[in-house]
Amino acid sequence: MKGSHVSTETISPVRVLIPAADIRKRVAEIAAAIDRDYATDRPLYLIGILKGSFVFLADLARCVTRPVRLDFIGISSYGSRRSSSGEVKLTKDLDGSVEGADVLVVEDIVDSGITLNYLSHVLAQRKPRSVRIAALLDKPSRRVCPVDVAYVGFEIPDEFVVGYGLDFAELYRNLPDVCILDEPPSA
Ligand code: 5GP
Repeated sequence: MKGSHVSTETISPVRVLIPAADIRKRVAEIAAAIDRDYATDRPLYLIGILKGSFVFLADLARCVTRPVRLDFIGISSYGSRRSSSGEVKLTKDLDGSVEGADVLVVEDIVDSGITLNYLSHVLAQRKPRSVRIAALLDKPSRRVCPVDVAYVGFEIPDEFVVGYGLDFAELYRNLPDVCILDEPPSA
């Protein structure tokens, strides 16, 4: 989760929600849809939101057959582990310009939608040719801000998940599956 640095020495048990094989299959389907949807030879500008998207971005970028550029952006939100206060700020900007580019924002999970709503406004001011969003996971029941997500991997229930890039206190990011944390952070 962004902007939190909770230190913990204890590793709580996790339960697999989405196995790695299912993720692999779905990422390939999303990449095929992206290849179909962007019919031109112009490079696609993939923007990963740090840090949780790094695994999804790496897998997606390798499944897409069209030319891509990629960059990362850092956004921190304030609030408890489970819910954003709505206050969001950029912690790392893009290295280059997105003006005139077909931008695909790559996110690990859409929860309240506050992060992506904020980022959509930031990017729109930079005059890209187009902006779409790909999110591996979506918790629609938690939505506060409307967000148009063009590519969704899996809709999931309101559970706190880790693995495949997603953390709790910077742990679990390297798990190959998306897992439910049995002792989730309190609201
Ligand atoms: P939003 O702004 O949509 O509320 O928040 C999106 C961000 O919250 C995600 O990029 C992620 O960092 C964090 N987040 C939301 N739900 C979860 C979750 O279940 N597990 C983890 N690890 N992070 C989450």
